[in-house]
Amino acid sequence: MIRPELQLHDYVEPVAPRSASTVLLLRDSEGELEVLMTQRSHAASFAPGVYVFPGGAVDAGESYEQAAVRECTEELAVTPDITQLRLQAIWTTDRDMAKRFVVKFYVAPMPDGQTPVADEQEQFLPTWVKPSTALAMYQVKQFPMIFPTIRTLEWLAKFANTAAALQACRGNQAHWDSTPRSALLGGKPHYYMESDAPYGELAMVCPDGIKRHALDWKHDAPVPLLKHVRRLTCGNPSMMTGPGTNSYIIGTVDTGFIVIDPGPYGTYDLSTPDADKAHVQRLFDACSGDIRAIICTHSHPDHSPAAVPLQALCSKALNNADAAPPKICGMKNLPTSRPHSEFTPDVQTQDGDVLVLEGGGLTITLRAIHTPGHAANHVCWALEEDGLLFSGDHILNGSTTVIDPPDGNMTDYLESLDKLDAACDRYDIQYILPAHGYVLGFAKTAIAKLKAHRLGREAKVKKAMETLPNAALDELVALAYDDVSPKLWPIAMRSLTAHVERLKEI
Ligand SMILES: [Zn+2]
Repeated sequence: MIRPELQLHDYVEPVAPRSASTVLLLRDSEGELEVLMTQRSHAASFAPGVYVFPGGAVDAGESYEQAAVRECTEELAVTPDITQLRLQAIWTTDRDMAKRFVVKFYVAPMPDGQTPVADEQEQFLPTWVKPSTALAMYQVKQFPMIFPTIRTLEWLAKFANTAAALQACRGNQAHWDSTPRSALLGGKPHYYMESDAPYGELAMVCPDGIKRHALDWKHDAPVPLLKHVRRLTCGNPSMMTGPGTNSYIIGTVDTGFIVIDPGPYGTYDLSTPDADKAHVQRLFDACSGDIRAIICTHSHPDHSPAAVPLQALCSKALNNADAAPPKICGMKNLPTSRPHSEFTPDVQTQDGDVLVLEGGGLTITLRAIHTPGHAANHVCWALEEDGLLFSGDHILNGSTTVIDPPDGNMTDYLESLDKLDAACDRYDIQYILPAHGYVLGFAKTAIAKLKAHRLGREAKVKKAMETLPNAALDELVALAYDDVSPKLWPIAMRSLTAHVERLKEI
């Protein structure tokens, strides 16, 4: 768990939520699914003037289902059959709202022979609408809605008719249970649920969900994530690097700093000329030159080449002849690596090694975890005291790690995932800070999903190999990666090679 005193903001306890219910009344019109929505009063204290599904707070002694039926009857003079209500999802109002609800969303067929009539107090303009139409109107600002309604309609839009939507909820199990978080993007609020890529970062930086974190990728200044962890993203965005390589700056003025993955330098293809030099200078400046160690998670050209120039900047700034510049730590590349990944550290990191920063009453312990798979010399680092994992390229957010044999190896990759899962237990790791993309939350779940994704792909590759026993890789890729854009197939072929190698071994 992150030490509370190292959070950027003081924690404010969100308001306790009350129970509420909502019903999606469904019907088919000309063979297409429609849902009943109404407009909330412009005087409502919560979400005034927006289009919603009918519903309201659960009264004392009432069940969620009873409240759903009563609210429908009061607001719209429609009484659905309580035995036909099926749970669809659970939404809890954002943590920053003054009034909060835990809302159970139900689906139900519109009862025959009834006509919705708004109470003209809380609800107005009962409207039958196709989910896709409501979403299109929302886009052109004709149909105001709040985030949970939008996500619900996106889900509903997948179904051809009422029967299909009801069938999807027959198990009476919530499809999700979400408390969305908001963030700023381009200065405007955006909302995210747990399955969205930025959610973990928002949970880590603003756990109370009351302050808003800016998600814009920027290269000119570090983004504070915690009091002792900042992220500076290099100006090398691309298909392979996502928003760019994340360099992490760990430490405080009192402890001095460790930089993880200083980034590309010189030879690497940069979208902005001199982005590498500017990045190294910014890393140096962000640490006021007080860098105690430079860590490279692995030697790929978008991670390690800037280590030497960053070290040189530190050397140049030393005016005390006895002082030593920071050591470059990591594992030397193996003979299997490509020529662009030549790397010789000052300190050859071993699995289990620790680097410690201390000062001002703060101790920061980084523990090396050797994780071959993406690269044979790949090392992840756990910040033990706060349960953080710096995952390099082994785990990414928003893209899939490429396994490029012979330096990459699929069996090693999967075993390293197991090793990281065990580290999550040992150090109570909740958050993963990848070299590309936002912070990931729910660390163990993220690792389990990643493993399931790989094994799912392996099953597809196996099937493709059985279907086309003597096929070349470029024929296999079309079958095994048929869910991936053909533009990505040249890269996917590397991971495909790794899967084929592994399948021939096991
Ligand atoms: Zn890499």
